[in-house]
Amino acid sequence: MDEGEGEASADSDKTAALRPARRAPYARNPVTLAGMASDPSAPAAVASTANSGDRPSTIGALRASGYAERTVKQELRENLLAGLSEGRSMFPSIVGYDESVIPALERGILAGHDIVFLGERGQAKTRLIRHLVNLLDEEVPAIAGCELGDHPFRPICARCRSLVAEEGDSAALEWIPRDRRYAEKLATPDTSVGDLIGDVDPIRVAEGHYLSDELTIHYGLIPRTNRGIVAINELPDLPERIQVALFNILEERDVQIRGYQIRLPLDLLLVATANPEDYTHRGRIVSPLKDRFGTQVRTHYPETLGDEISIMDQEARASTGGRPVRVPAFMKEILAALTAELRRSPQVNHRSGVSVRYSIGNLETVIASAMRRAAIAGEPEAVPRVVDLPAVLAGSQGRVEFDAIEEGREEEILSRTSRQAVLEVFRRRLSGFDFAPIVSRFDEGLEVETSDTTPASEFLRQFGEAPGLGRLLGRLGVEEESPGVAASALEFALEGLHLSRRLNKEGADRAGAVRYGGV
Ligand SMILES: [Zn+2]
Repeated sequence: MDEGEGEASADSDKTAALRPARRAPYARNPVTLAGMASDPSAPAAVASTANSGDRPSTIGALRASGYAERTVKQELRENLLAGLSEGRSMFPSIVGYDESVIPALERGILAGHDIVFLGERGQAKTRLIRHLVNLLDEEVPAIAGCELGDHPFRPICARCRSLVAEEGDSAALEWIPRDRRYAEKLATPDTSVGDLIGDVDPIRVAEGHYLSDELTIHYGLIPRTNRGIVAINELPDLPERIQVALFNILEERDVQIRGYQIRLPLDLLLVATANPEDYTHRGRIVSPLKDRFGTQVRTHYPETLGDEISIMDQEARASTGGRPVRVPAFMKEILAALTAELRRSPQVNHRSGVSVRYSIGNLETVIASAMRRAAIAGEPEAVPRVVDLPAVLAGSQGRVEFDAIEEGREEEILSRTSRQAVLEVFRRRLSGFDFAPIVSRFDEGLEVETSDTTPASEFLRQFGEAPGLGRLLGRLGVEEESPGVAASALEFALEGLHLSRRLNKEGADRAGAVRYGGV
């Protein structure tokens, strides 16, 4: 998951070979998507230009090939329509948005609009935007060496206009892969016009260019992404002055840099993200810029626990460490239910929300906790248990923003909410289950101790013969014969019984250890 990235370094090595050495168009773009956008499951949306040998290498050859001239928005629209009519999934790996967000986004693209995504954090906004790259042609021709990736038939920069005037149809082309036609920028209050649009380059002035000469300009992110997609994350954080400059270059198509007016009719799809409250807050976005976004796409959190769990499964980093890891379904449900409870909680700051990344991070950490136990105890497999939760939640506390009045009570609120989540899953999974045989053992004096380092075998041993364990595992959908999973299931049941006031629970002698007993 990948919200709110700032600038990653340009991946210049991979693309250097494709460019003439003299200049490096796009090389300074903060983010190139080498690898990232080429999701193997993503559709190739494109009429691809087969292999490099067949591609026209001059303007004349391109013209002779009948290459159609399209704006980036036309290109996106046509490739999307082609994909839709072939029934391809255009946004693979996006869970839970099929009926809501994706149709709205597709309508925005087909309408040729610039698009703003409104949503709380962790709603896959950046991921959706990056998927748009897959709707671009695999490669497009540009005038070789142009910093703005100029279209061969309609160059906009001074260099290429004079180059085409001199060389005509023999002017050389280069082919730009789609991952280099995307740039994203995290808006911050100190973002400058130079970053986004450009500045006078003192070196070029020193080389003898006049200040009034367009060739003295060092172009910023947006001109360098000409003919591509520019994503601005957290648009309301962009200072008003920069918003005005942004609007001017997009709408008026000229830009003023240090007093010089330069005409730059860029061809772009602009996408932005914003928190809905910030976006609607008066004065955070200058009205003409707001007006530029023809389509608003409202994102949302997963609407079901099933969707939340699918995303957790998809995104949690696979653990490596030799031992197999088994995560019982009820453990994932508890984590997903915890996130859902927090999203509903009046004590949590709703402006920032609770990201899906919170669920993913918690899943990764309960797995880590189980791996730690397995390594210490020499267990054959790592299985997360309810006893792992308190430490995990303490470690991810900072990912939830509480309302200011709750200061100092964060830990208490989290642990109460996690108890609610355990109880909710316990009731859903095990309502009506006959616990009498287990509870009566405790009423007769059984005490069971557990901790985040108690191995499964040690935990189970305390029961001797655990009555009804087989039926319990069946109800929980556990099929494998695994002491780790059996211990996890039984511990979940004890905690559920405790939360239903049928068992007592107290801290044991060791820190982090608890003891269950009869009430
Ligand atoms: Zn150019």
